[in-house]
Amino acid sequence: MRYAALAEAFEKLEHTPSYLEKNSVIVELLKRTTAEEMERVVLLLLGKPWPAYVSKETGVGLQQLKKAVARAAGYSPAEVDKLMRQVGDLGEVAKQLLGKKRQVTLFAEQLTVKKVFENVKQLPEITGEGSVDRRIASIAELLTSSTPLEAKFIVRTVIGDLRIGVAEGRLRDAIASAFDVRPGVVEHAYMLTTDYSIVAKTVVTGGEKGLKKLGVAVGHPVNPMLAQRAETIDEVLKRMKGKAAFEIKLDGIRIQIHKDGDKVSLFTRRMEEYTKMFPDILDPLRQALKPKRAIVDGELVAIDKRTGKPMPFQEVLKRRRKYEIKQAIEQIPVEIYVFDLLMSDGNVMLDEPYIERRKVLERIVKEVKGKVIMVEQRVLDKPDEIKEFMDWSIKIGHEGLLAKDLEASYRAGRREFVWLKLKPVLETLDLVVVGGLYGKGKRAGFFGSYILAARDGKTGRFKTVTKCGSGYTDEDLKELTKLFKKIQLKKPHPDIDIEIDCDARFEPKIVFEVVYEELQVSPAEKHTSGFGMRFPRYIRIREDRRPSEINTTQEIAELFKKQEKRKTAKV
Ligand code: AMP
Repeated sequence: MRYAALAEAFEKLEHTPSYLEKNSVIVELLKRTTAEEMERVVLLLLGKPWPAYVSKETGVGLQQLKKAVARAAGYSPAEVDKLMRQVGDLGEVAKQLLGKKRQVTLFAEQLTVKKVFENVKQLPEITGEGSVDRRIASIAELLTSSTPLEAKFIVRTVIGDLRIGVAEGRLRDAIASAFDVRPGVVEHAYMLTTDYSIVAKTVVTGGEKGLKKLGVAVGHPVNPMLAQRAETIDEVLKRMKGKAAFEIKLDGIRIQIHKDGDKVSLFTRRMEEYTKMFPDILDPLRQALKPKRAIVDGELVAIDKRTGKPMPFQEVLKRRRKYEIKQAIEQIPVEIYVFDLLMSDGNVMLDEPYIERRKVLERIVKEVKGKVIMVEQRVLDKPDEIKEFMDWSIKIGHEGLLAKDLEASYRAGRREFVWLKLKPVLETLDLVVVGGLYGKGKRAGFFGSYILAARDGKTGRFKTVTKCGSGYTDEDLKELTKLFKKIQLKKPHPDIDIEIDCDARFEPKIVFEVVYEELQVSPAEKHTSGFGMRFPRYIRIREDRRPSEINTTQEIAELFKKQEKRKTAKV
Protein backbone atom coordinates (compact mmCIF):
# COMPACT_ATOMS: atom_id res chain seq x y z
CA MET A 1 0.00 0.00 0.00
CA ARG A 2 1.20 3.48 -0.73
CA TYR A 3 1.73 5.63 2.33
CA ALA A 4 -0.27 8.35 0.58
CA ALA A 5 -3.44 6.27 1.06
CA LEU A 6 -2.78 6.11 4.79
CA ALA A 7 -1.97 9.83 5.02
CA GLU A 8 -5.23 10.67 3.26
CA ALA A 9 -7.16 8.54 5.73
CA PHE A 10 -5.34 10.25 8.64
CA GLU A 11 -6.23 13.66 7.26
CA LYS A 12 -9.90 12.68 7.05
CA LEU A 13 -9.83 11.29 10.58
CA GLU A 14 -8.26 14.45 11.93
CA HIS A 15 -11.02 16.59 10.48
CA THR A 16 -13.94 14.32 11.36
CA PRO A 17 -15.17 14.73 14.91
CA SER A 18 -18.11 12.35 14.52
CA TYR A 19 -17.65 8.88 15.96
CA LEU A 20 -19.62 7.22 13.18
CA GLU A 21 -17.81 8.93 10.35
CA LYS A 22 -14.46 8.22 11.93
CA ASN A 23 -15.48 4.64 12.20
CA SER A 24 -16.38 4.38 8.54
CA VAL A 25 -13.03 5.90 7.49
CA ILE A 26 -11.21 3.24 9.53
CA VAL A 27 -13.48 0.48 8.24
CA GLU A 28 -12.78 1.51 4.63
CA LEU A 29 -9.06 1.59 5.31
CA LEU A 30 -9.03 -1.83 6.95
CA LYS A 31 -11.04 -3.35 4.11
CA ARG A 32 -8.47 -2.13 1.61
CA THR A 33 -5.55 -3.51 3.60
CA THR A 34 -4.05 -6.90 2.79
CA ALA A 35 -3.19 -9.45 5.44
CA GLU A 36 0.49 -8.78 4.89
CA GLU A 37 0.10 -5.06 5.50
CA MET A 38 -2.44 -5.28 8.31
CA GLU A 39 -0.11 -5.11 11.32
CA ARG A 40 1.74 -2.12 9.93
CA VAL A 41 -1.42 -0.23 9.03
CA VAL A 42 -3.07 -0.82 12.41
CA LEU A 43 0.01 0.16 14.38
CA LEU A 44 0.57 3.32 12.35
CA LEU A 45 -3.10 4.16 12.78
CA LEU A 46 -2.55 3.97 16.54
CA GLY A 47 0.46 6.22 16.17
CA LYS A 48 3.51 4.03 16.77
CA PRO A 49 5.26 1.21 14.94
CA TRP A 50 5.01 -1.00 18.04
CA PRO A 51 2.11 -1.90 20.33
CA ALA A 52 1.25 0.59 23.09
CA TYR A 53 2.54 -1.65 25.86
CA VAL A 54 6.08 -1.52 24.48
CA SER A 55 7.66 1.39 26.30
CA LYS A 56 9.73 2.67 23.43
CA GLU A 57 10.01 6.00 21.74
CA THR A 58 11.73 6.97 18.54
CA GLY A 59 14.23 8.99 20.57
CA VAL A 60 14.15 11.83 18.06
CA GLY A 61 13.75 15.25 19.66
CA LEU A 62 11.95 18.22 18.19
CA GLN A 63 15.20 19.99 17.32
CA GLN A 64 16.50 17.03 15.34
CA LEU A 65 13.23 16.68 13.57
CA LYS A 66 13.26 20.34 12.62
CA LYS A 67 16.65 19.80 11.02
CA ALA A 68 15.31 16.86 9.03
CA VAL A 69 12.38 18.95 7.81
CA ALA A 70 14.72 21.83 6.89
CA ARG A 71 17.00 19.52 4.98
CA ALA A 72 14.24 17.78 3.04
CA ALA A 73 12.47 21.01 2.11
CA GLY A 74 15.58 23.01 1.38
CA TYR A 75 14.96 25.67 4.00
CA SER A 76 17.17 26.85 6.83
CA PRO A 77 16.47 25.69 10.39
CA ALA A 78 15.75 29.34 11.26
CA GLU A 79 13.01 29.48 8.64
CA VAL A 80 11.51 26.27 10.02
CA ASP A 81 11.64 27.77 13.51
CA LYS A 82 9.88 30.91 12.39
CA LEU A 83 7.00 29.04 10.80
CA MET A 84 6.87 26.71 13.79
CA ARG A 85 6.24 29.70 16.06
CA GLN A 86 3.32 30.73 13.90
CA VAL A 87 1.77 27.32 13.32
CA GLY A 88 2.71 25.45 16.50
CA ASP A 89 2.74 21.98 14.95
CA LEU A 90 5.80 20.67 13.17
CA GLY A 91 3.68 18.29 11.10
CA GLU A 92 1.77 21.23 9.64
CA VAL A 93 5.04 23.12 9.13
CA ALA A 94 6.47 20.18 7.19
CA LYS A 95 3.36 20.06 5.05
CA GLN A 96 3.54 23.74 4.20
CA LEU A 97 7.26 23.81 3.50
CA LEU A 98 7.27 20.70 1.39
CA GLY A 99 4.42 22.21 -0.59
CA LYS A 100 6.77 24.94 -1.72
CA LYS A 101 9.90 22.92 -1.71
CA ARG A 102 13.11 24.59 -2.80
CA GLN A 103 15.00 21.39 -3.21
CA VAL A 104 13.83 19.56 -6.27
CA THR A 105 14.35 15.84 -6.11
CA LEU A 106 14.60 13.85 -9.26
CA PHE A 107 13.35 10.29 -9.42
CA ALA A 108 11.90 10.41 -5.93
CA GLU A 109 10.43 7.04 -5.14
CA GLN A 110 6.81 6.72 -4.06
CA LEU A 111 6.63 5.99 -0.37
CA THR A 112 5.08 2.74 0.77
CA VAL A 113 3.58 2.01 4.17
CA LYS A 114 6.27 -0.59 4.62
CA LYS A 115 9.11 1.85 3.99
CA VAL A 116 7.75 4.44 6.45
CA PHE A 117 7.00 1.79 9.06
CA GLU A 118 10.46 0.22 8.82
CA ASN A 119 12.30 3.55 8.89
CA VAL A 120 10.44 4.85 11.92
CA LYS A 121 10.66 1.52 13.69
CA GLN A 122 14.42 1.32 13.43
CA LEU A 123 15.02 4.88 14.72
CA PRO A 124 15.54 3.81 18.36
CA GLU A 125 18.00 1.20 17.14
CA ILE A 126 20.30 3.87 15.68
CA THR A 127 22.75 4.45 18.51
CA GLY A 128 26.41 5.18 19.08
CA GLU A 129 28.67 7.67 17.39
CA GLY A 130 27.01 9.95 14.89
CA SER A 131 23.60 8.53 15.75
CA VAL A 132 21.94 11.95 15.83
CA ASP A 133 23.02 12.66 12.28
CA ARG A 134 22.08 9.22 11.07
CA ARG A 135 18.61 9.57 12.56
CA ILE A 136 18.14 12.94 10.91
CA ALA A 137 19.30 11.46 7.63
CA SER A 138 16.90 8.56 7.91
CA ILE A 139 13.93 10.88 8.49
CA ALA A 140 15.08 13.33 5.81
CA GLU A 141 15.23 10.41 3.39
CA LEU A 142 11.54 9.74 3.98
CA LEU A 143 10.56 13.39 3.84
CA THR A 144 12.44 13.96 0.60
CA SER A 145 10.29 11.36 -1.12
CA SER A 146 7.04 12.41 0.48
CA THR A 147 4.15 14.57 -0.61
CA PRO A 148 3.31 17.47 1.72
CA LEU A 149 0.48 15.50 3.32
CA GLU A 150 2.67 12.45 3.84
CA ALA A 151 5.33 14.63 5.44
CA LYS A 152 2.83 15.99 7.94
CA PHE A 153 1.99 12.56 9.27
CA ILE A 154 5.51 11.16 9.12
CA VAL A 155 6.66 14.04 11.31
CA ARG A 156 3.81 13.55 13.75
CA THR A 157 4.47 9.80 13.92
CA VAL A 158 8.13 10.40 14.72
CA ILE A 159 7.20 12.86 17.49
CA GLY A 160 4.70 10.32 18.81
CA ASP A 161 1.68 12.61 18.57
CA LEU A 162 -0.48 11.72 15.60
CA ARG A 163 -3.52 13.76 16.72
CA ILE A 164 -6.12 11.96 14.63
CA GLY A 165 -8.27 10.96 17.58
CA VAL A 166 -8.04 7.20 17.15
CA ALA A 167 -7.76 5.52 20.52
CA GLU A 168 -7.35 1.78 20.89
CA GLY A 169 -10.95 1.21 21.96
CA ARG A 170 -12.20 2.48 18.63
CA LEU A 171 -10.46 -0.31 16.78
CA ARG A 172 -12.74 -2.91 18.29
CA ASP A 173 -15.85 -1.65 16.50
CA ALA A 174 -14.00 -0.91 13.28
CA ILE A 175 -12.44 -4.37 13.06
CA ALA A 176 -15.77 -5.99 13.90
CA SER A 177 -17.66 -4.16 11.16
CA ALA A 178 -14.90 -4.33 8.54
CA PHE A 179 -14.65 -8.10 8.77
CA ASP A 180 -18.11 -8.98 9.98
CA VAL A 181 -17.17 -10.54 13.29
CA ARG A 182 -18.81 -10.00 16.66
CA PRO A 183 -17.41 -7.08 18.69
CA GLY A 184 -17.36 -9.26 21.80
CA VAL A 185 -15.05 -11.78 20.13
CA VAL A 186 -12.75 -8.99 18.92
CA GLU A 187 -12.65 -7.53 22.41
CA HIS A 188 -11.87 -10.84 24.04
CA ALA A 189 -8.97 -11.44 21.64
CA TYR A 190 -7.68 -7.97 22.49
CA MET A 191 -7.95 -8.63 26.22
CA LEU A 192 -5.65 -11.61 25.79
CA THR A 193 -3.11 -10.07 23.41
CA THR A 194 -3.37 -6.32 24.18
CA ASP A 195 -2.49 -5.70 20.56
CA TYR A 196 -5.04 -4.74 17.91
CA SER A 197 -2.52 -5.30 15.13
CA ILE A 198 -2.38 -9.01 15.99
CA VAL A 199 -6.15 -9.11 16.35
CA ALA A 200 -6.75 -7.47 12.95
CA LYS A 201 -4.25 -9.67 11.19
CA THR A 202 -5.77 -12.79 12.72
CA VAL A 203 -9.27 -11.77 11.63
CA VAL A 204 -8.18 -11.28 8.04
CA THR A 205 -6.46 -14.62 7.84
CA GLY A 206 -8.64 -16.77 10.08
CA GLY A 207 -11.92 -14.93 10.76
CA GLU A 208 -13.79 -15.36 14.01
CA LYS A 209 -12.51 -18.91 14.35
CA GLY A 210 -8.92 -17.69 14.19
CA LEU A 211 -9.65 -15.05 16.82
CA LYS A 212 -11.04 -17.62 19.18
CA LYS A 213 -7.80 -19.53 18.94
CA LEU A 214 -5.67 -16.55 19.95
CA GLY A 215 -4.15 -17.09 23.35
CA VAL A 216 -1.79 -15.45 25.78
CA ALA A 217 1.94 -15.20 25.19
CA VAL A 218 4.80 -14.46 27.53
CA GLY A 219 5.96 -10.90 26.99
CA HIS A 220 2.54 -9.68 25.83
CA PRO A 221 0.59 -8.26 28.77
CA VAL A 222 -2.91 -9.60 29.31
CA ASN A 223 -5.67 -7.23 30.41
CA PRO A 224 -6.09 -8.00 34.10
CA MET A 225 -9.26 -9.28 35.67
CA LEU A 226 -10.96 -6.65 37.84
CA ALA A 227 -13.25 -6.64 40.85
CA GLN A 228 -16.75 -5.39 41.54
CA ARG A 229 -17.69 -3.84 44.83
CA ALA A 230 -19.83 -5.52 47.47
CA GLU A 231 -21.63 -3.72 50.26
CA THR A 232 -21.81 -6.43 52.87
CA ILE A 233 -20.50 -9.86 53.79
CA ASP A 234 -24.00 -11.23 53.27
CA GLU A 235 -24.06 -9.90 49.73
CA VAL A 236 -20.76 -11.62 49.00
CA LEU A 237 -21.96 -14.95 50.34
CA LYS A 238 -25.18 -14.68 48.38
CA ARG A 239 -23.43 -13.92 45.12
CA MET A 240 -20.85 -16.65 45.66
CA LYS A 241 -23.34 -19.31 46.65
CA GLY A 242 -22.40 -19.48 50.29
CA LYS A 243 -18.65 -19.93 50.09
CA ALA A 244 -15.65 -18.13 48.60
CA ALA A 245 -11.92 -17.60 48.77
CA PHE A 246 -11.16 -14.50 50.84
CA GLU A 247 -7.87 -12.70 50.43
CA ILE A 248 -6.27 -9.65 51.92
CA LYS A 249 -6.82 -6.63 49.70
CA LEU A 250 -3.50 -4.87 49.43
CA ASP A 251 -3.15 -1.26 48.36
CA GLY A 252 -0.29 -1.14 45.92
CA ILE A 253 0.15 -1.47 42.19
CA ARG A 254 -1.33 -4.31 40.21
CA ILE A 255 1.57 -6.03 38.51
CA GLN A 256 1.60 -8.80 35.94
CA ILE A 257 4.83 -10.73 35.97
CA HIS A 258 6.09 -12.33 32.78
CA LYS A 259 8.96 -14.75 33.08
CA ASP A 260 10.70 -16.05 29.98
CA GLY A 261 13.86 -17.89 30.91
CA ASP A 262 16.03 -15.32 32.64
CA LYS A 263 14.02 -12.42 31.41
CA VAL A 264 11.45 -11.02 33.82
CA SER A 265 9.12 -8.21 32.76
CA LEU A 266 6.55 -6.31 34.80
CA PHE A 267 3.39 -4.73 33.42
CA THR A 268 0.86 -2.52 35.17
CA ARG A 269 -2.87 -2.73 35.01
CA ARG A 270 -2.76 -0.26 32.14
CA MET A 271 -0.28 -2.51 30.37
CA GLU A 272 2.64 -0.14 30.75
CA GLU A 273 5.98 -1.78 31.26
CA TYR A 274 7.42 -1.00 34.71
CA THR A 275 10.33 -3.46 34.68
CA LYS A 276 12.99 -0.75 34.90
CA MET A 277 11.37 0.89 37.87
CA PHE A 278 11.75 -2.10 40.16
CA PRO A 279 15.15 -3.66 39.40
CA ASP A 280 15.42 -4.93 42.98
CA ILE A 281 12.44 -7.26 42.66
CA LEU A 282 13.53 -8.99 39.44
CA ASP A 283 16.06 -11.36 40.95
CA PRO A 284 13.78 -12.51 43.74
CA LEU A 285 11.12 -13.18 41.10
CA ARG A 286 13.55 -15.22 39.01
CA GLN A 287 14.25 -17.32 42.09
CA ALA A 288 10.67 -17.58 43.20
CA LEU A 289 9.03 -18.71 39.97
CA LYS A 290 9.98 -22.29 39.25
CA PRO A 291 8.72 -22.73 35.65
CA LYS A 292 10.85 -21.54 32.77
CA ARG A 293 8.02 -19.49 31.41
CA ALA A 294 5.13 -18.12 33.40
CA ILE A 295 2.60 -15.30 33.67
CA VAL A 296 1.64 -14.47 37.23
CA ASP A 297 -0.71 -11.83 38.61
CA GLY A 298 0.02 -9.93 41.80
CA GLU A 299 0.17 -6.68 43.73
CA LEU A 300 3.34 -4.76 44.40
CA VAL A 301 3.45 -3.07 47.77
CA ALA A 302 5.86 -0.58 49.31
CA ILE A 303 6.86 -1.14 52.89
CA ASP A 304 7.46 1.54 55.44
CA LYS A 305 10.89 0.74 56.84
CA ARG A 306 10.08 2.14 60.26
CA THR A 307 6.78 0.44 60.94
CA GLY A 308 7.03 -2.53 58.60
CA LYS A 309 3.52 -1.66 57.39
CA PRO A 310 2.43 -1.14 53.78
CA MET A 311 2.73 2.44 52.56
CA PRO A 312 0.10 4.29 50.59
CA PHE A 313 0.02 3.65 46.92
CA GLN A 314 1.42 7.10 46.03
CA GLU A 315 4.68 6.17 47.71
CA VAL A 316 5.11 3.24 45.35
CA LEU A 317 4.55 5.52 42.40
CA LYS A 318 7.39 7.78 43.49
CA ARG A 319 9.67 5.17 42.08
CA ARG A 320 8.50 6.12 38.64
CA ARG A 321 10.93 8.97 38.49
CA LYS A 322 14.04 7.50 37.03
CA TYR A 323 16.64 9.51 38.84
CA GLU A 324 15.17 8.52 42.15
CA ILE A 325 15.25 4.79 41.65
CA LYS A 326 18.56 4.16 43.32
CA GLN A 327 17.56 6.14 46.34
CA ALA A 328 14.10 4.64 46.33
CA ILE A 329 15.41 1.09 46.47
CA GLU A 330 17.02 2.03 49.77
CA GLN A 331 14.18 4.03 51.18
CA ILE A 332 11.13 2.29 49.83
CA PRO A 333 11.64 -1.44 49.66
CA VAL A 334 8.96 -3.29 47.73
CA GLU A 335 7.36 -6.69 48.00
CA ILE A 336 5.25 -8.58 45.52
CA TYR A 337 2.23 -10.52 46.67
CA VAL A 338 1.15 -13.05 44.08
CA PHE A 339 -2.42 -14.29 43.78
CA ASP A 340 -3.16 -15.70 40.34
CA LEU A 341 -1.65 -17.72 37.54
CA LEU A 342 -2.36 -17.20 33.85
CA MET A 343 0.24 -19.46 32.31
CA SER A 344 2.83 -21.91 33.51
CA ASP A 345 5.20 -23.42 30.96
CA GLY A 346 3.01 -24.92 28.27
CA ASN A 347 -0.19 -24.68 30.30
CA VAL A 348 -2.57 -21.80 29.75
CA MET A 349 -4.56 -21.55 32.97
CA LEU A 350 -7.19 -18.93 32.10
CA ASP A 351 -10.08 -21.36 31.75
CA GLU A 352 -9.28 -23.32 34.89
CA PRO A 353 -11.39 -22.64 38.01
CA TYR A 354 -9.78 -20.22 40.45
CA ILE A 355 -9.21 -22.82 43.12
CA GLU A 356 -7.24 -24.90 40.63
CA ARG A 357 -5.13 -21.93 39.49
CA ARG A 358 -4.29 -21.14 43.10
CA LYS A 359 -3.27 -24.74 43.76
CA VAL A 360 -0.85 -24.73 40.84
CA LEU A 361 0.39 -21.26 41.85
CA GLU A 362 1.27 -22.59 45.29
CA ARG A 363 3.21 -25.39 43.65
CA ILE A 364 5.21 -23.22 41.28
CA VAL A 365 6.09 -20.38 43.65
CA LYS A 366 8.86 -20.70 46.17
CA GLU A 367 8.40 -17.70 48.43
CA VAL A 368 11.38 -15.39 48.89
CA LYS A 369 11.21 -13.88 52.36
CA GLY A 370 10.28 -10.22 52.37
CA LYS A 371 10.19 -10.11 48.57
CA VAL A 372 7.87 -12.59 46.89
CA ILE A 373 4.94 -13.72 48.96
CA MET A 374 1.71 -15.65 48.37
CA VAL A 375 -1.34 -13.57 49.25
CA GLU A 376 -2.92 -14.92 52.39
CA GLN A 377 -6.10 -16.74 51.49
CA ARG A 378 -8.87 -18.43 53.47
CA VAL A 379 -11.79 -20.35 52.04
CA LEU A 380 -14.67 -19.32 54.29
CA ASP A 381 -18.44 -19.64 54.56
CA LYS A 382 -19.22 -18.20 58.00
CA PRO A 383 -19.94 -14.46 58.28
CA ASP A 384 -18.24 -14.24 61.70
CA GLU A 385 -15.02 -15.70 60.42
CA ILE A 386 -15.09 -13.43 57.40
CA LYS A 387 -15.62 -10.40 59.63
CA GLU A 388 -12.73 -11.46 61.84
CA PHE A 389 -10.44 -11.88 58.83
CA MET A 390 -11.50 -8.49 57.54
CA ASP A 391 -10.82 -6.74 60.86
CA TRP A 392 -7.44 -8.37 61.04
CA SER A 393 -6.56 -7.34 57.49
CA ILE A 394 -7.35 -3.72 58.33
CA LYS A 395 -5.53 -3.87 61.63
CA ILE A 396 -2.30 -4.89 59.95
CA GLY A 397 -2.63 -1.99 57.52
CA HIS A 398 -4.47 -3.34 54.47
CA GLU A 399 -7.61 -2.14 52.76
CA GLY A 400 -10.05 -4.93 53.43
CA LEU A 401 -10.75 -8.19 51.63
CA LEU A 402 -11.23 -9.51 48.15
CA ALA A 403 -13.69 -12.33 47.78
CA LYS A 404 -13.19 -14.66 44.84
CA ASP A 405 -15.55 -17.19 43.33
CA LEU A 406 -13.85 -20.56 43.66
CA GLU A 407 -15.10 -21.79 40.31
CA ALA A 408 -14.52 -18.67 38.17
CA SER A 409 -12.16 -18.66 35.21
CA TYR A 410 -9.70 -15.79 34.70
CA ARG A 411 -11.83 -13.15 32.93
CA ALA A 412 -9.22 -11.01 31.25
CA GLY A 413 -10.17 -7.33 31.24
CA ARG A 414 -13.56 -7.93 32.85
CA ARG A 415 -15.04 -6.45 36.00
CA GLU A 416 -17.58 -9.02 37.08
CA PHE A 417 -19.24 -10.22 40.25
CA VAL A 418 -16.86 -13.19 40.61
CA TRP A 419 -14.27 -10.96 42.31
CA LEU A 420 -15.78 -8.71 44.97
CA LYS A 421 -13.99 -6.11 47.04
CA LEU A 422 -15.14 -5.61 50.58
CA LYS A 423 -13.94 -2.37 52.08
CA PRO A 424 -15.32 -0.98 55.31
CA VAL A 425 -14.30 2.60 54.58
CA LEU A 426 -16.50 5.44 53.48
CA GLU A 427 -17.74 5.25 49.94
CA THR A 428 -15.37 6.74 47.43
CA LEU A 429 -15.91 7.40 43.77
CA ASP A 430 -13.48 7.88 40.92
CA LEU A 431 -14.58 10.81 38.78
CA VAL A 432 -12.98 12.73 35.97
CA VAL A 433 -12.26 16.44 36.30
CA VAL A 434 -13.99 18.51 33.61
CA GLY A 435 -13.97 22.07 34.98
CA GLY A 436 -12.50 24.42 37.57
CA LEU A 437 -13.40 27.55 39.50
CA TYR A 438 -10.90 30.07 40.77
CA GLY A 439 -10.57 30.34 44.54
CA LYS A 440 -10.90 33.43 46.67
CA GLY A 441 -8.75 35.00 49.40
CA LYS A 442 -5.83 32.73 50.19
CA ARG A 443 -6.75 30.62 47.20
CA ALA A 444 -6.85 33.48 44.71
CA GLY A 445 -4.95 32.70 41.53
CA PHE A 446 -5.47 28.96 41.98
CA PHE A 447 -8.37 26.76 41.11
CA GLY A 448 -10.15 26.35 44.42
CA SER A 449 -12.76 23.83 43.37
CA TYR A 450 -13.22 21.37 40.57
CA ILE A 451 -16.21 20.06 38.70
CA LEU A 452 -16.27 16.30 38.51
CA ALA A 453 -18.10 14.02 36.15
CA ALA A 454 -19.03 10.36 35.91
CA ARG A 455 -19.21 8.41 32.67
CA ASP A 456 -22.49 7.37 31.17
CA GLY A 457 -21.81 3.66 30.69
CA LYS A 458 -24.23 3.51 27.75
CA THR A 459 -23.13 6.50 25.68
CA GLY A 460 -19.61 7.08 26.99
CA ARG A 461 -20.42 10.78 27.66
CA PHE A 462 -19.16 12.52 30.77
CA LYS A 463 -21.89 13.94 33.02
CA THR A 464 -21.29 16.17 36.01
CA VAL A 465 -21.92 14.97 39.56
CA THR A 466 -20.42 17.52 41.91
CA LYS A 467 -18.36 20.59 42.58
CA CYS A 468 -15.61 19.59 44.97
CA GLY A 469 -13.92 22.36 46.93
CA SER A 470 -12.50 20.65 49.99
CA GLY A 471 -9.89 18.12 50.96
CA TYR A 472 -7.00 19.92 49.22
CA THR A 473 -3.88 21.11 50.99
CA ASP A 474 -2.36 24.44 49.86
CA GLU A 475 0.32 22.41 48.13
CA ASP A 476 -2.32 20.31 46.31
CA LEU A 477 -4.04 23.45 45.05
CA LYS A 478 -0.82 24.81 43.65
CA GLU A 479 0.21 21.57 41.97
CA LEU A 480 -3.27 20.87 40.63
CA THR A 481 -3.59 24.37 39.15
CA LYS A 482 -0.31 23.87 37.31
CA LEU A 483 -1.44 20.50 36.07
CA PHE A 484 -4.86 21.61 34.92
CA LYS A 485 -3.66 24.75 33.16
CA LYS A 486 -1.87 22.41 30.79
CA ILE A 487 -5.07 20.71 29.73
CA GLN A 488 -7.36 23.71 29.76
CA LEU A 489 -9.64 23.86 26.72
CA LYS A 490 -10.64 26.85 24.66
CA LYS A 491 -13.89 25.33 23.46
CA PRO A 492 -16.36 23.04 25.24
CA HIS A 493 -15.33 19.40 24.88
CA PRO A 494 -17.71 17.43 22.65
CA ASP A 495 -17.97 14.47 25.04
CA ILE A 496 -18.88 16.44 28.16
CA ASP A 497 -22.38 17.44 29.30
CA ILE A 498 -22.03 20.35 31.66
CA GLU A 499 -24.62 22.92 32.69
CA ILE A 500 -23.16 24.70 35.72
CA ASP A 501 -20.89 27.67 35.26
CA CYS A 502 -17.18 27.32 35.64
CA ASP A 503 -14.10 29.45 35.01
CA ALA A 504 -12.19 26.85 33.05
CA ARG A 505 -12.93 23.68 31.16
CA PHE A 506 -10.51 20.81 30.96
CA GLU A 507 -9.80 17.87 28.75
CA PRO A 508 -11.36 14.86 30.54
CA LYS A 509 -8.08 13.21 31.46
CA ILE A 510 -7.41 13.37 35.17
CA VAL A 511 -9.30 11.20 37.63
CA PHE A 512 -9.94 12.23 41.25
CA GLU A 513 -10.89 9.89 44.02
CA VAL A 514 -13.43 11.61 46.28
CA VAL A 515 -15.32 10.64 49.42
CA TYR A 516 -18.74 11.97 50.22
CA GLU A 517 -21.36 11.77 52.85
CA GLU A 518 -24.41 11.11 50.79
CA LEU A 519 -25.70 10.95 47.23
CA GLN A 520 -28.60 13.14 46.23
CA VAL A 521 -30.87 13.54 43.27
CA SER A 522 -29.97 16.67 41.35
CA PRO A 523 -31.97 18.54 38.73
CA ALA A 524 -30.47 18.00 35.28
CA GLU A 525 -30.02 21.78 34.84
CA LYS A 526 -27.53 21.59 37.67
CA HIS A 527 -25.78 18.24 37.36
CA THR A 528 -26.29 16.48 34.07
CA SER A 529 -25.87 13.01 35.61
CA GLY A 530 -29.08 13.60 37.59
CA PHE A 531 -27.16 13.03 40.84
CA GLY A 532 -25.22 15.19 43.23
CA MET A 533 -23.09 14.67 46.34
CA ARG A 534 -23.24 16.03 49.85
CA PHE A 535 -19.90 17.07 51.32
CA PRO A 536 -17.57 15.78 48.64
CA ARG A 537 -13.92 15.74 49.67
CA TYR A 538 -10.85 15.26 47.48
CA ILE A 539 -8.58 12.37 48.44
CA ARG A 540 -6.07 12.01 45.62
CA ILE A 541 -5.47 11.69 41.91
CA ARG A 542 -6.01 8.14 40.68
CA GLU A 543 -3.00 7.84 38.46
CA ASP A 544 -3.87 4.26 37.63
CA ARG A 545 -7.35 5.09 36.36
CA ARG A 546 -8.25 6.10 32.85
CA PRO A 547 -11.33 8.24 32.23
CA SER A 548 -12.86 5.19 30.56
CA GLU A 549 -12.56 3.33 33.87
CA ILE A 550 -14.22 5.80 36.22
CA ASN A 551 -17.53 5.24 37.99
CA THR A 552 -20.51 5.34 35.70
CA THR A 553 -23.78 7.19 36.15
CA GLN A 554 -25.43 3.76 36.23
CA GLU A 555 -23.21 2.71 39.15
CA ILE A 556 -24.07 5.93 40.94
CA ALA A 557 -27.76 5.24 40.39
CA GLU A 558 -27.22 1.79 41.87
CA LEU A 559 -25.34 3.21 44.88
CA PHE A 560 -28.09 5.74 45.40
CA LYS A 561 -30.68 2.99 45.43
CA LYS A 562 -28.70 1.01 47.99
CA GLN A 563 -28.20 4.10 50.14
CA GLU A 564 -31.91 4.82 50.20
CA LYS A 565 -32.64 1.23 51.09
CA ARG A 566 -30.17 1.39 53.98
CA LYS A 567 -31.80 4.55 55.22
CA THR A 568 -35.25 3.03 55.30
CA ALA A 569 -33.89 -0.12 56.93
CA LYS A 570 -32.59 1.95 59.83
CA VAL A 571 -35.92 3.55 60.58
P1 AMP B 1 -9.99 -1.58 42.76
O1 AMP B 1 -8.73 -0.97 42.24
O2 AMP B 1 -10.57 -0.81 43.90
O3 AMP B 1 -10.97 -1.90 41.65
O4 AMP B 1 -9.63 -3.00 43.40
C1 AMP B 1 -9.08 -4.04 42.64
C2 AMP B 1 -7.58 -4.03 42.77
O5 AMP B 1 -7.17 -4.48 44.05
C3 AMP B 1 -6.87 -4.98 41.84
O6 AMP B 1 -6.72 -4.44 40.56
C4 AMP B 1 -5.53 -5.16 42.52
O7 AMP B 1 -4.64 -4.13 42.11
C5 AMP B 1 -5.82 -4.92 43.99
N1 AMP B 1 -5.66 -6.12 44.83
C6 AMP B 1 -5.17 -6.09 46.08
N2 AMP B 1 -5.16 -7.31 46.63
C7 AMP B 1 -5.66 -8.16 45.73
C8 AMP B 1 -5.92 -9.57 45.71
N3 AMP B 1 -5.67 -10.35 46.76
N4 AMP B 1 -6.45 -10.10 44.58
C9 AMP B 1 -6.74 -9.31 43.51
N5 AMP B 1 -6.51 -7.99 43.49
C10 AMP B 1 -5.98 -7.41 44.57
